[in-house]
Amino acid sequence: MNKSRIWIVSDVDGTLMDHFYDLTPAKETIAWLQRLGIPVILCTSKTKSEVKIIRNDLNLKDPYIVENGGAIYGEYSNGKEWEIILGKSYTILEKILNNLSENINFKLRPLNTLNDDEATNLTGLEGESLKLMRDRHWSMPFLNPPDIFDKDLKRLCQIYDVEIFRGNRMSHLLSKNSNKGIAIKKLLNKNKNFNAQIIGLGDSPNDLPLLNNSKYKIVISGIKGPNQILLNQLKGTDVCISKKPHGYGWKEEVFKLVTKLLNN
Ligand SMILES: [Mg+2]
Repeated sequence: MNKSRIWIVSDVDGTLMDHFYDLTPAKETIAWLQRLGIPVILCTSKTKSEVKIIRNDLNLKDPYIVENGGAIYGEYSNGKEWEIILGKSYTILEKILNNLSENINFKLRPLNTLNDDEATNLTGLEGESLKLMRDRHWSMPFLNPPDIFDKDLKRLCQIYDVEIFRGNRMSHLLSKNSNKGIAIKKLLNKNKNFNAQIIGLGDSPNDLPLLNNSKYKIVISGIKGPNQILLNQLKGTDVCISKKPHGYGWKEEVFKLVTKLLNN
């Protein structure tokens, strides 16, 4: 992947697959990209354990960014794994979340403290998949707090050296040194591929650093259209909004843009 002129860097939930975790629509396009030697780098809030299964399913060998940029993993040609850790540990983030809760006088609830039923209601995941989701080390997803706390939380994040990104289903507490954008920069540095043209794809505000570090920004719509908060945050930049939702939008926009770039 070092030499590829084009990199696809894609969020997973809601972008590459719909909220029923269906990867089928994008599969054919991913196989086409592989034949072209274009890497598909998954860049997600999911855990390493979860992404491993998705990579297998898609037959991907490219590096991948997990826990919202908390860590990057990949494989050497001999199959041995490498890792780059960017985030604060789960334990430290848990302490910070508790402090934030005390400061705003509202209990911010980590995703990992939901019981199975609650977690299934929120994420649609069940059984073994819940175990994989809870195998978290470098990020802290928690239930979206009411909007009225936004201002206070923003101010407090400065003090604790962290950031909060709001996803469609939950929020994520991250170290200031670990977001999807920082992880992309690290990966480019590691590969010494400074001229790679990144096609970034995402669907919610936690993808803002990903899209801001991409030459081509594609916002993937949901069933009810694109995320308006994300679109507001991207105002003034050149953004492509997918016509179709989730994997169908992914497939269509990636195919169109890559074909155009290859023919230029
Ligand atoms: Mg998403």
